[in-house]
Order: sequence, then C-alpha cells, then structure tokens
Amino acid sequence: MISSSGDFDGLVAVVTGGASGIGLGAAQMLSSRGARVVCLDVKRDDVPEPLTRVHCDVTRTESVAEAIAEVTARFGQLDVLVNNAGAGVQGTIEDNTEAEWLRVFDLNVVSMMRVSRAALPYLRRSTFPAVVNMCSISAGAGIRRRALYSATKGAVLALTRAMAMDYVSEHIRVNCVSPGSVDTALVRELLAQTADPVAERAAFEARQPLGRLVTVDEVAFAVAYLASPLSGATTGTCLAVDGGFSGLRP
Ligand code: NAD
Repeated sequence: MISSSGDFDGLVAVVTGGASGIGLGAAQMLSSRGARVVCLDVKRDDVPEPLTRVHCDVTRTESVAEAIAEVTARFGQLDVLVNNAGAGVQGTIEDNTEAEWLRVFDLNVVSMMRVSRAALPYLRRSTFPAVVNMCSISAGAGIRRRALYSATKGAVLALTRAMAMDYVSEHIRVNCVSPGSVDTALVRELLAQTADPVAERAAFEARQPLGRLVTVDEVAFAVAYLASPLSGATTGTCLAVDGGFSGLRP
C-alpha cells in the first residue's frame, strides 16, 4: 500500500511565479508533502515559511541562471520544476500590439525553455526528476477575446509533449496542468478590465459545468500529483482541472 504522505521527502522543488496565486498554492502543497521549496518570482513579497523566495525574472536569462545557481548552492539539488509564472491577457488579434505579443510569449512560453534549460543539469542528477508546466483550458478550446493568451497556452501544451519526448530516455517526466478559471489575482485583474466585472465573473462561473471557479488548492493538488515520484509512469500528459469545461457538454 503506497501513501502520498511525505512522497516529496528529500526532494527540492522550484516553482516559478511562486509568490502568489496558483504558484504559491503549489509550493505550499509540495512543501506539506515533504519537499523543500523555492519560489522564484519578480515580486519582492515574502512567502510563508517554510518556503524560500529567490528573486528571479523568468524573462531574463541571467536572472534565471543566477536564481538556479542560488537554489542549487543552498540546497545542493533540484528535483522538481514547476513552470508556472505567466500573465493573462484579453483581446482579439486586433487588440494586442505586436510588442505585447512578443512580451507575453516570452513570459508564458519562452521562459519555460529558459528555466527548464537552466534546471536540466540538476534534473539529470535527480532520482525523481519532474517538470510540470502551467497550461490552460484555452489551449484546447476557443475562448472569446483570448487570442494571444490561447496561442501561448497552445504552445505550452505542445512544448510539454515535445519536452516529455526529448527527455523520456533520461527518465525526466514532463507534464502539464490545464486549469479552468481559478480565483486568483490574474482572473480578478481580467475581470476588473471588463465593463461589468460582476456579470463577467458570473459568466466565468457558468462556463464551467461545476458552476464555480476552480480553487488554487485544486490546481496545486494536480501539480503535486504529476510531480510526485508516485506518478513515475506519467509523462507527456495534460491534466485538466477545469470544473468539467473541456470534457462535458451540459
Ligand atoms: P498570479 O498573477 O496570481 O501569479 C503569477 C505569479 O507570476 C505572480 O507572483 C507574478 O509576480 C509572477 N510573475 C510574473 N511575471 C514574472 C516574471 N517575469 N518572472 C517571475 N515571476 C513572474 O496568476 P495565477 O492565476 O496564479 O497564474 C499562474 C499561472 O496559471 C499562469 O501561467 C496562468 O496563465 C495560469 N493559469 C491561470 C488560470 C487562472 O484562472 N487564474 C487559469 C489557467 C491557467
């Protein structure tokens, strides 16, 4: 009989964008199951103990290299990488400037290559290496006024599968989680930009057959499931945590 209690004992995890929202929730979940967890974030906010925060801008290669060097100097290893940092953005293809397209692609997609590449030498030395990328339901369905955001998350899904293939022979597992709308600052900011945030929030809730937003803990639990040494046969998958959005037709 296996138990998920303490399944991350002895492992070190890095969570990008770990100072708030889904990243912070995932960091706390991994920590509660035994991992030593470092949150890489541009935000200077403190993270709750026993988490550690290391300053990092995932859009800057030198910043990423410095942060991974700091983590590995302090803890001596890196076993689990959660590529979570990202931004939400609204608009059709006519609404966002080209500069915005490049900025959001850099943050939501290219950063995953950057951080993963820096982490790979350490993942290769780990007994239980795992990468979890943060995708979205917008990778698999057309959502109104999300052209740029959806394009980045479609790329995350494809990148996840490609990375899983490239590193399967080295036993480095790569998966992604695909949340529906989750109650975080990202969604609250998107709602605040609409003409009627209350009605828009109700529409977000109604869009998911469960009739509510997903919680941070529900996404964090999925991250931990995919990252856990107990999930050793799971790679190249995308786990939906979306209140039934992608699979159900009410
Ligand atoms: P959030 O805004 O609450 O948190 C994002 C975190 O990323 C913040 O702490 C922020 O400081 C950090 N960050 C931003 N730019 C960074 C950079 N350049 N370097 C390092 N850190 C940076 O957002 P969230 O809702 O928790 O979203 C986290 C991830 O989940 C994103 O990839 C997002 O696309 C994805 N997601 C969110 C939802 C949702 O409904 N909230 C749904 C699907 C997917």
